[in-house]
Amino acid sequence: TRWVYAFGGGSADGDASMKNLLGGKGANLAEMSALGLPVPPGFTITTEACVHYYANQRQYPADLKEQVAAGLQRVEELTGKTFGDPANPLLVSVRSGARASMPGMMDTVLNLGLSDKTVDGLAKLSGDRRFAFDSYRRFIQMYSNVVLGLDHHMFEEILDEHKDRLYVTVDTALSAEDWEAVVADYKAAVQRELGRPFPQDAHEQLWGAVGAVFASWMNDRAKFYRRMHDIPESWGTAVNVQSMVFGNMGETSATGVAFTRNPSTGENRLYGEFLINAQGEDVVAGIRTPQALTKIAREEMGEKNPSMEEALPDVFTQFKSVVEKLEKHYRDMQDIEFTVEKGRLYMLQTRNGKRTAKAALKVAVDLASEGLITREEAVMRVEPASLDQLLHPTIDPSSPRDVVAVGLPASPGAATGKVVFTAEEAERLGGAGEAVILVREETSPEDIRGMDAARGVVTARGGMTSHAAVVARGMGRPCVSGAGEVHIDGRAQEFHSRGKTIRAGDVITIDGSTGEVLLGTVKMVEPELSGDFATLMGWADGVRRLKVRANAETGQDAKMARQFGAEGIGLCRTEHMFFDPDRIAAVREMILADDVAGRRAALAKILPMQRQDFVDLFTIMEGLPVTIRLLDPPLHEFLPHTEEDVAAVSQATGLDAAKLLRRAQELHEVNPMLGHRGCRLGVSYPEIYEMQVRAIIEAACEVAASGRPAPIPEIMHPLVATREEMKFLRELTDRTAREVIAEKGREIEFKVGTMIELPRAAIRAGDLAEQAEFFSFGTNDLTQTTFGISRDDAGKFLGAYVDKGIFEKDPFVSLDQAGVGDLIRIAAERGRAQRPNVKLGICGEHGGDPASIQFCESIGLDYVSCSPYRVPIARLAAAQAAV
Ligand code: PEP
Ligand code: MG
Repeated sequence: TRWVYAFGGGSADGDASMKNLLGGKGANLAEMSALGLPVPPGFTITTEACVHYYANQRQYPADLKEQVAAGLQRVEELTGKTFGDPANPLLVSVRSGARASMPGMMDTVLNLGLSDKTVDGLAKLSGDRRFAFDSYRRFIQMYSNVVLGLDHHMFEEILDEHKDRLYVTVDTALSAEDWEAVVADYKAAVQRELGRPFPQDAHEQLWGAVGAVFASWMNDRAKFYRRMHDIPESWGTAVNVQSMVFGNMGETSATGVAFTRNPSTGENRLYGEFLINAQGEDVVAGIRTPQALTKIAREEMGEKNPSMEEALPDVFTQFKSVVEKLEKHYRDMQDIEFTVEKGRLYMLQTRNGKRTAKAALKVAVDLASEGLITREEAVMRVEPASLDQLLHPTIDPSSPRDVVAVGLPASPGAATGKVVFTAEEAERLGGAGEAVILVREETSPEDIRGMDAARGVVTARGGMTSHAAVVARGMGRPCVSGAGEVHIDGRAQEFHSRGKTIRAGDVITIDGSTGEVLLGTVKMVEPELSGDFATLMGWADGVRRLKVRANAETGQDAKMARQFGAEGIGLCRTEHMFFDPDRIAAVREMILADDVAGRRAALAKILPMQRQDFVDLFTIMEGLPVTIRLLDPPLHEFLPHTEEDVAAVSQATGLDAAKLLRRAQELHEVNPMLGHRGCRLGVSYPEIYEMQVRAIIEAACEVAASGRPAPIPEIMHPLVATREEMKFLRELTDRTAREVIAEKGREIEFKVGTMIELPRAAIRAGDLAEQAEFFSFGTNDLTQTTFGISRDDAGKFLGAYVDKGIFEKDPFVSLDQAGVGDLIRIAAERGRAQRPNVKLGICGEHGGDPASIQFCESIGLDYVSCSPYRVPIARLAAAQAAV
């Protein structure tokens, strides 16, 4: 097997299509090399080697050593340097590189190959002893931390001692001799901690680093990140070994990161940051505040330090043409890392850049308009779930802003919450449902869970490409980074800015689109759904086959759904209407009634209100289909249960307290989800369903009579299991509807159908289709009844199932296609066999989940229905499923 692929020197063994094998970084390094771009030579150890390593008790494949040696030799030839040679040492970086980028989650070692002997060689070669020892101490610290497992604070303390002794505060004030002394102390610390010296052999160092990168695939951060982004553990990571180039060799050296377009807004303009005389990690770590790439960006930011365009004009011109070439070649916005060593440009990485949803839309629409991609490709370029970021509120521009600090607009959107200062606290309070804003000096990969639990993030240091900014954008969390006026006092749990003190627990609002941090809560406005959003959604609608409807009961939700592009209502849960404070009394009266006559009397009070609900819905939906589900929950849900509640209800309504309590006790069920609910209510108390059907048809007549588009009600029965149930319900529905139609003298088109929520219903779907004109898969209940897992209690233990890998995903969130999906497939087949034009849809939570929508497309359902906010997500996911 081939485990090692070379790149650099104008050619490569691999190319960009080999991401699965070479990881994203390795595949793109190969591609750039083959394009003739300046890439420092190196080689990639494949992801298969990592998979082999884990499948074989952490042993490397037998022939890996040989292939790595050959790879190294090629690098030696291309660079004219020798690994471990004291006179002319080759130094390398060792970096992870999975198929999907996992920024900062895994380990990296730079400057590898340095030792007591080679450091002198580096000093001579570079003519800079200070630089050589600075590099050596960086290497010892990084290697000791990543490979030897020593805490980096130990090294920071040693460095601080030296600085104190020398009365200096900044690293740049240390001389070559000072760094030599630091190096000696670092090595002594390693010897003391481990009882053995810091490894001096370059090959031993290399294998140590390779092993550490493989091992970092299984660290907690990486596992958490994979779970969050649905990245399978089985993929493994590749390892890239690449000759070092140095951005810290003086004033004509630099290192930086760039995006070919703005990753926050999508604006088509080179965007990024760089640092003169610095090494790669310095930019991302947010230790020094980086400089702009272009003059215009520097001027806009009001920066004094020169841009790359001004400081290194020749290299900049070359760089600009390289990045333009890359964007055209990859036909997508690129995220690029580069280094300039003594005036020479080197490309260290390119990849399709992560971006906000807003930027994703703009870039996709622009690239299609520029003719670089097709409209269908543009539709595929936007992650449906990310649209969520755009559908949420931003700060009302007209509301007063009590600005306490301004930083960089690192990730758009606005959020309000209580200030917390640690990721742990964010996790604890966020997990308990509190809105919190995480305020940090800077963030690191350890903070990722806390960032996820927070509504937004503020950092005092770091640029637009700092860890906080990149991760927040990926998560869709608003973020303000590099707010330098924010002075955090971690011990006192407060921060100071503009003469004010903000304590932990105080409420602030952040605007990730302007970079402002505001005191208190601020009025928000609804999102703007025009422009690029409308354009891309239009293209998506053009390719989609599945219809998209919304689950909605109220007029407000229905309006929202239509704004978001819903093509009907797929589920109106009528019980929600029964909880209205104006009618719950009548509902309770109905439940307490001793006989049919008593129930009918109470139902007669509910009828006009229920009719008005439907008039409103039909009016808003203007002739689009509206699926109305008859009463579903067990009746006890409408009654008070505790003695206090009973007393309160009795006082407010005049209903007899003793009777209320007795009835609640009578209705008590051990297992209510499998009890007296769904159409079983309609069987026991047909008068309830008759009232609902009457309300629906009367409303339809009323709306039609008013000259508005005639409604198409679809009357749906819940929790049906058998042919006889369905027959009974169909007769009840038809009889009642015909009565109303006769009374009103107006023909109304309506359909009668059923939900499919029970395995029996799915398997006997042919029986149900004899009477049912449509099926709507209630996959919340169908998942519950198929797994025998209570949807209301699953939260307590499903987490453990997902953590242990027993469930890949929560089946209540993303459809279990193998099991529940199979039942749906069977039901669709048998339903259609009985009634070829039976209309099929899904209305469980899965109707808004892109993976589940893909499944619905694959089995040819007619529509999906989901909550209004997810309608755009579903439209896009449906389009992608159809492409
Ligand atoms: C379902 O069961 O999937 C469904 C849509 O109905 P409900 O969530 O109201 O039980
Ligand atoms: Mg249900």
